[in-house]
Amino acid sequence: MNTISRLLCMTLGLSSVFAAGEALAQVNVAASFSITEDIVREIGKDRVTVTSVIPRGSNPHSYDLRPQDLMTLEKADIVFLTGLGFDDFLKRWSDTAKNRNKIIDISQGIKPLRNTEGDDDSHEHEESPEHEHEEHHHHEHEGHHHHHGGTDPHAWQNPLNGAIYAENIRKELCKKEPDSCGFFTENAANYTKALKDLDTRYQERFSGIPEQSRVMITTHDAFNYLADHYRIQILAPRGITDSHEPSAGDIARIEELMKEKKVRAVFIENLSNNTAVEELSRKNGNSINGILYTDSLTTEPEGNTYLKLIEHNLNAIWSAMSE
Ligand SMILES: [Zn+2]
Repeated sequence: MNTISRLLCMTLGLSSVFAAGEALAQVNVAASFSITEDIVREIGKDRVTVTSVIPRGSNPHSYDLRPQDLMTLEKADIVFLTGLGFDDFLKRWSDTAKNRNKIIDISQGIKPLRNTEGDDDSHEHEESPEHEHEEHHHHEHEGHHHHHGGTDPHAWQNPLNGAIYAENIRKELCKKEPDSCGFFTENAANYTKALKDLDTRYQERFSGIPEQSRVMITTHDAFNYLADHYRIQILAPRGITDSHEPSAGDIARIEELMKEKKVRAVFIENLSNNTAVEELSRKNGNSINGILYTDSLTTEPEGNTYLKLIEHNLNAIWSAMSE
């Protein structure tokens, strides 16, 4: 918010806002998707207004900017990108944005995992040393799919990466509104503690399951960060972009592995085409254990915040494996 609009806002809004007993929102934030939006709200609370560009329930793998999104991005004081190739759908705007200094990648400091699409061994990851420069790469092909540069963008599925996003967001809000930095820092500390407590709880739970039984099947490769962190092997019949149908060969290979490894954890996802998993599950006598939430918060209570979404996923996976 610039000085003039803030003055206007204070002059016009003062009486009504204070009558409602709320502090004035000081920073206007745009976030690339609903999970980032939620983390910004946890740290900024009523001193920040935040809008997600991608609405809840929309698939970021095939998102095209609407005119109203361009308005949101232009008007924002800060635009938080999710990073690691996730935000390519924003390039149409960001490549020509007037103030590019306000565009902040919140994945700084996260150890990126490699995109495993097409790999035979989907639980082996390599670090990509190039991730910090990922957002500057140009991708001429299919501008709105997020499987670029060899990195996997779904870092939020590890709650400790969520804590890194939170710290990057806190730093930037502090820079923008130093007077509220104590407030943001306290909120971020509480939030980070909740994420770390959740992580500790599930580290303990998963350590009670033998590693050879920590195998799951789900529809697109959105869980590599979760799997890497809790030492789970994932068999995913769809690729990381959620955009190609699995081949007969893919399905046959997974069926073999399901039998060999006696997989008990089979999931479908909230934003995915799940035909392949449903068919595999039916043919092999596994019942589907439930839905995992991937690239969007839900409108139902069980996945409508980032903390709840992660807890839902961890609990569903752990419960299926410990049956
Ligand atoms: Zn995804």
